[in-house]
Amino acid sequence: MYCNMCGVENPNDSNYCKECGANLQGKDSNKQSVLDVNSNSDRELFAKAANLFRGIEAVGGKIYFYDNRLIFKSHSFNIQTGETTIYYSDIVLVEKVRTGIVPNGMLVTLRNGAKHRFVLWNRSEAINFLNSKIV
Ligand SMILES: [Zn+2]
Repeated sequence: MYCNMCGVENPNDSNYCKECGANLQGKDSNKQSVLDVNSNSDRELFAKAANLFRGIEAVGGKIYFYDNRLIFKSHSFNIQTGETTIYYSDIVLVEKVRTGIVPNGMLVTLRNGAKHRFVLWNRSEAINFLNSKIV
């Protein structure tokens, strides 16, 4: 590793710079925490108004897309409608489906067999995004 203070190269396991005595581990852990923030999975990428079917009832709300998951939050603060979190790593299939006669549905199938049916406009952006996230 290179010393942040003087630029001299030191062995990777050094605690202090051999040249100027700066604390290399301290500098290194600071760098690490900056990286952690930059790759933070809590970064919201975009959000879309959507409905989520709970049984036969469509609940109005918004889908928030993060780096590693989406969260559907209903407009209602009713505890039963609440939030639904879906990790992209749990998704096996994202399909376009019709809702009645309107082609605006998105069906998300998880590894455990659970299916979540959303209704949203401009669904292609969301579907393309999810397909880029699932393996
Ligand atoms: Zn140094």
